[in-house]
Amino acid sequence: MTTFATDYVKCSRCGQTSEFDVLASTNAFGPCDLDTRPPEMKRSTMFYWVQECPHCGYVGDEISDSTTAPDELFDSEAYLSYGGIKFASELAKKFYRLYLVKMAEKNDVDAFWAALNAAWASDDKRDDASAVACRKLALERIEPIIADEPDSDNYKLMKLDLLRRVREFDAVLEYGATLKIDEEFLARIVALELELAKRRDDACHTCAEA
Ligand SMILES: [Zn+2]
Repeated sequence: MTTFATDYVKCSRCGQTSEFDVLASTNAFGPCDLDTRPPEMKRSTMFYWVQECPHCGYVGDEISDSTTAPDELFDSEAYLSYGGIKFASELAKKFYRLYLVKMAEKNDVDAFWAALNAAWASDDKRDDASAVACRKLALERIEPIIADEPDSDNYKLMKLDLLRRVREFDAVLEYGATLKIDEEFLARIVALELELAKRRDDACHTCAEA
């Protein structure tokens, strides 16, 4: 089961203390989604993955951790208006701000995950437009990650799924054809992605189907 505790957290940016629920424990049973989103109960713990200071608006994984993002970011139009994305999910808004913070910190990996988490939170509210917008941001960030780790297959498979979920089906087929994946299970996932793309299927699917 999922358990949480109440914690008082001091914001590293403004020094004010606020109360947050923090995750104490959770579990995950069953297959994950093709983009690695975990099954329940961990699936429903995203609320605890991000903190927003109610005093200064700083968003971090934990706001007690300091940031190198400049002060201007927190007053910027993009930060205040969520990049113009009309989010239906309050949680997705926090992950979008986390994405901007990680971008300002020049941390591609964390920015990628923040954008993907904003997409997951939007999926949960059936906010397709925001989910697609966030997956496109994740796709931009995944390129330097793949360039940096050319031997790592996981991000390549995630790129395939992101392309499919934003309905870039031809790009899935094109990119999938260039992949050389030796590991059998991962190769089956590539085959599944290609099959889904041929069917113009942009829905969420799990690794169990491979
Ligand atoms: Zn603060």
